[in-house]
Amino acid sequence: MELWMTEFQTKHLGLTARIKETLFTGQSEFQEIAVVDSDQFGRMLILDGVFQTSIFDEFIYHEMIAHIPLFTHPNPEQVLVIGGGDGGTIREVVKHPSVKTAEMVEIDGMVVEACKKHLPEIAEALINEHPKLRLKIDDGIKHMKEARNKYDVIIVDCSDPIGPGQGLFTHEFYEDVYRALKEDGLFVQQTESPFYHQPLVRHLYKDIGSLFPITRLYLAQIPLYPSGTHCFTIGSKKYDPWQLDTAKLPDIGATRYWNKDIQKSCFVLPNFVQELLK
Ligand code: SAM
Repeated sequence: MELWMTEFQTKHLGLTARIKETLFTGQSEFQEIAVVDSDQFGRMLILDGVFQTSIFDEFIYHEMIAHIPLFTHPNPEQVLVIGGGDGGTIREVVKHPSVKTAEMVEIDGMVVEACKKHLPEIAEALINEHPKLRLKIDDGIKHMKEARNKYDVIIVDCSDPIGPGQGLFTHEFYEDVYRALKEDGLFVQQTESPFYHQPLVRHLYKDIGSLFPITRLYLAQIPLYPSGTHCFTIGSKKYDPWQLDTAKLPDIGATRYWNKDIQKSCFVLPNFVQELLK
């Protein structure tokens, strides 16, 4: 018997994948967790029925959420990842030679354990307990309230604005992020699809722009995510990704999506996205 699984991306549309095998299912205090193996995307992490990451295309999301903000900052030493339980973002963060500490605050220990076991390619920095890594199982919203003037770069690698991730998309949270950053710090958050989540994209851009002097949105092509085009929004106190001189970036080894041209070109927005942000 064939097993197919659908993620409902809007009220009217779903992405359906044929499932070869279910590797893990569990109900944590926060969400329903599954790891399945699929024909098209390979192994995938699914939280509350939402496709989170896959072996097929995880490199795009993780390279783009980590390298774009880290290269925008001239010397990121103290870095915080909120969420990111699969470990893919931390795997990229620790590649930056200037990074001394890569803290990760993930609310759900069961996600971390499931990914270490079933998605080891993504979770390698968690499995190997990379010397730069400081992992804390806790609520990122609470953690942000307590931190002051501490981080060079904060990466909000969260799930959708439902369930435990809801509070990571609020003005109050962005105020806490602002306070937790050093005076020249910057942050990035994954901010969904410019096709299917337009009110959210516009609202978050405005909200972040009301606090940070520099706000920039960039795009990446990610087949697993709704519409295949994904937004990331940067709030920065000092450094503008447009002004970056890409000739002088430090070496982080081989990448599969990111390159020096994409570091700049990802901020070039189609007219309908520019309109959305006005
Ligand atoms: N790349 C993914 C995407 O956009 O679909 C995000 C993946 S990552 C697995 C998201 C993580 O954020 C989940 O593991 C979830 O448990 C975590 N998370 C949600 N709310 C959180 C919170 N308040 N504090 C810390 N982590 C949180």
